[in-house]
Amino acid sequence: MFENQERTNIEQLGEFGLIDHLTKQIKIKNTSTIKGIGDDAAVIDFEGKKALISTDMLLEGIHFDLAYTPLKHLGYKAVQVNLSDIYAMNGMAAQVTVSIGISSKFPLEAIEELYEGIYLACEKYNVDLVGGDTTSSRQGLVISVTSIGYADEKDITYRNTAHEGDLICVSGDLGGAYVGLQLLEREKLVYIENPNIQPDLEGKDYIIERQLKPESRKDIVELLKDIDVKPTAMIDISDGLASEILHICKQSDKGCNIYEDKIPVYEDAKQFAYKLELDPTACALSGGEDYELLFTVAQADYEKIILNDQISIVGYMTAPEEGKHLITRGGNKHELVAQGWNHMKR
Ligand code: ADP
Ligand code: MG
Repeated sequence: MFENQERTNIEQLGEFGLIDHLTKQIKIKNTSTIKGIGDDAAVIDFEGKKALISTDMLLEGIHFDLAYTPLKHLGYKAVQVNLSDIYAMNGMAAQVTVSIGISSKFPLEAIEELYEGIYLACEKYNVDLVGGDTTSSRQGLVISVTSIGYADEKDITYRNTAHEGDLICVSGDLGGAYVGLQLLEREKLVYIENPNIQPDLEGKDYIIERQLKPESRKDIVELLKDIDVKPTAMIDISDGLASEILHICKQSDKGCNIYEDKIPVYEDAKQFAYKLELDPTACALSGGEDYELLFTVAQADYEKIILNDQISIVGYMTAPEEGKHLITRGGNKHELVAQGWNHMKR
């Protein structure tokens, strides 16, 4: 990594020099940001709205592999996965803090690339970078992002408030990020065996992007507001549809029926799944990292929802004693289980 490029040793700058260098161009975008970087704490004022706060930590070798993850994409994704949690509460994100642990293998240019991605995400989603922490790490790269957002109390959407009969909705499409990851892993093995072979990723842009450059669904939160629909419950899909709907069922004490033929899987993802001998439905149910929104709405909102091509209705909530089921294309009823794409088990 960075073998052929200019390498500036971070130690030349020192910690404060580095922070200064990385953050000097920041321009505050939100009026709620009273004080950003530069003091002991940031100061935020949401003027009567409730604050929403969420944190994620990403570790090299566990959550990302730098063999095929460009640092710019990594920075972008680290922010996106975090903003996604704020949108999943039906709120808007306004600030992030970014903490990094860097080992001596990284030159300044690598950290600059990481921050390019971070700033790109902040720019696109109108979020201010208001703080963070910088330390050295003995091994590998660590990134932790905290996102801060806001919502009117009445708009906040929890996981435990779905009702019997509510429609289960999914934004965008599912499974692509997992298929993308499988492709990248496969190309990495080819490369390890023969470093002269260039990765064959032609025509696979969509699924590769789904894995490397996910977009959180701020637009869906805005759309729901526009069409005047307040979801009854909501969660973001980081671990696959099955695992997330089971969270809503458990917390709301309800059952569900999900219909296989209603689960949105993008055609490209389907085709590559078949090539890799994967079942597209399994990729959507258990694949993870799609960062779409899963939410329930009252049946009365059906007409408002079906008009949007970015929202699919995949099933409905039932009484808890009816259980949690997947109804297959062939009409068979299976118990829905979270097979888990579990980062711990990899
Ligand atoms: P402290 O000693 O109070 O923790 P630091 O010297 O670590 O302060 O940080 C100085 C300022 O720079 C603070 O506003 C902090 O939030 C910010 N900061 C530190 N590291 C980062 C980083 N990696 N990205 C963005 N801001 C950072
Ligand atoms: Mg500090």
